Amino acid sequence: MARTYLRNANLLDGERPAQPGVTVVIEDDRIVSVGSGGTSVRNDDTVVDLRGRTLMPGMVLGHFHPAYSVAHSATDAPESKQAIWAQGNAMRLLKCGYTAGVGAGTFFDIDARLAGAIDSGMVEGPRLIPASRAIAPGPVGGMAREASPYIECHGAEAVRAAVEKEIERGAKIIKLFGASGHALLGAGAMSTEELRAAVEVAEAHGVRTRAHVCGRDKVLDCVEAGIRIIDHADGMDDACIQAFLDNDCFVLPSLYMGWQSKVDPSLPGAELFVAEDFDYMASVLPKAVEAGVKFVPGDDYGFGMLDHGDYPGELVCYVEQCGIDPLEVIKWATKNGGELTGIEGLGTIAPGSLADMVIVDGDPSVDINVLAQPDRIVAVLKGGALASGELPAEQLALAS
Ligand SMILES: [Zn+2]
Repeated sequence: MARTYLRNANLLDGERPAQPGVTVVIEDDRIVSVGSGGTSVRNDDTVVDLRGRTLMPGMVLGHFHPAYSVAHSATDAPESKQAIWAQGNAMRLLKCGYTAGVGAGTFFDIDARLAGAIDSGMVEGPRLIPASRAIAPGPVGGMAREASPYIECHGAEAVRAAVEKEIERGAKIIKLFGASGHALLGAGAMSTEELRAAVEVAEAHGVRTRAHVCGRDKVLDCVEAGIRIIDHADGMDDACIQAFLDNDCFVLPSLYMGWQSKVDPSLPGAELFVAEDFDYMASVLPKAVEAGVKFVPGDDYGFGMLDHGDYPGELVCYVEQCGIDPLEVIKWATKNGGELTGIEGLGTIAPGSLADMVIVDGDPSVDINVLAQPDRIVAVLKGGALASGELPAEQLALAS
């Protein structure tokens, strides 16, 4: 089978510092070798000289609402329209260098339908782990309509039934509104029994749970109940950090909206955020990183002031506003994100890994801002195939 040689790459493998002059060889949908070699090139192989451009794993957006759209999500738009918007948003994600998104809540069963359409090749898009609608412990402001992305449940039995139904509809991740805070106001909190019921039903089907949760005690409650994907975690302290480590949790702080709200309180949705929450989290984050907490980027794109397409802006925020090293943030978006998807071999560049990669003009481990400049995203490969952009034209003449 013909192979593709990506030569002279500045390699960011998802974990280690940049390594210049590396050759990565792809065969079918996998990476078969990473090194300085490339001597056994055959006539039918493709050889691309990256001329020092950065080659990094396809990024993962760990908190993704493809069905949310800034202009439309609070309206009573029909399901078909929302599904079309969702596919458009998924394509925007792919073009930004993200080859996977992990659902964090959807309208109807749009995530599952979209993931199925992408996987079958019917439409293009990133790998998508489909989410349920969110299980909510109380009414969520203005959204309690039939087509709401929230299901209000009271009591463990109601939660069980809702989780069963969402899994039947194709959800691979059950989204829970564990407790209010972080733009979710007045919904209250799920009880320990309700949280446990959700985890129990989900696990019985091999489905995972994630919780929107804020406040130290509520965060600890969710982890104790068996939830391993923690969204936001505003107010986390040392005990939460220890609980995340002890239980191998993924944590998605989603600070980009909070930051934007702080900078310009007149932006739509900014009134839902508390500036002190951002300041506190920004101050705690470096300590949690030092301790080894597994963070993954992702935010509420499609809601409030945050439109789809600005995904890498969040990475810049963590570096510039929270003092996290760019290489660490890249690891959040690649290696950690890949693990969060549950797809084997995603998020790293190593022999045997899936050939999901991004070619970047510049080195984001030196300046994270290059990821936020669309013209610097030269090409996106998904499973070894070109999914967006173009491979650099400088192909080497093959020795016959
Ligand atoms: Zn969300």
